[in-house]
Amino acid sequence: MSPSSALTRFLKQGLTRAMCPLCRVAHKLDREYIWYFFDEYSTDDQTLDALRGARGFCLEHAAALRRLEVDGLKSTLGISTTYLDTLEGLAEELARLRPKDYFTSAPCPACAYRGDGLEKCARYLRDEMAETERSRERYAEGPGLCMPHFELVWSVATAEERDFLIEVERRSVEGLVRDLREHICKQGAEFRSEPDGAEAGAWERALALTAGWPPPTAPVGRPEDDAA
Ligand SMILES: [Zn+2]
Ligand SMILES: [Zn+2]
Repeated sequence: MSPSSALTRFLKQGLTRAMCPLCRVAHKLDREYIWYFFDEYSTDDQTLDALRGARGFCLEHAAALRRLEVDGLKSTLGISTTYLDTLEGLAEELARLRPKDYFTSAPCPACAYRGDGLEKCARYLRDEMAETERSRERYAEGPGLCMPHFELVWSVATAEERDFLIEVERRSVEGLVRDLREHICKQGAEFRSEPDGAEAGAWERALALTAGWPPPTAPVGRPEDDAA
């Protein structure tokens, strides 16, 4: 299946920034889902059913909903309406629940939306690098993929593509190891100073490369600068 033009655009933006390109896609998908939630999804029965099955959004996406309200969008009515439906469902479930029953939740619908988009994008990233030399170069100039997204792209890559993934990732990790060592050394007894070169932010890049890049702090309710 070919990815939507929006997904393609998000991925290409990711390739031009010093970050995991799929993290960029994930952030855009999250924004997109939350932004349209009250416009369309909150009145869509399927989404309400999914939210009911999940017993509400996960912690991360619940936090994104809270930030909408901070933006002054008067979203509390929308949150109250959708969560009234979710909690009515939960009340019915609890009324039926017996000690011998299993109790598991369906996936958070925003996570599921992001997961679907990322899966398409993992395949698209693979194809894009096979077909476009410039994208391949851009990827190689960047830090590679965070570990969760490395795992995802790895799962759809051929042996030859995996060689390239390993090459970029290894270079990125080895560079980071050097920077972390430098960071530690400069804070040691000999220097007693704050690290100031490429090593200064090494600890943050170590967190990003392993767990994923953090989303932008710009409020969800305001248009993001898409220039890339
Ligand atoms: Zn990532
Ligand atoms: Zn979620």
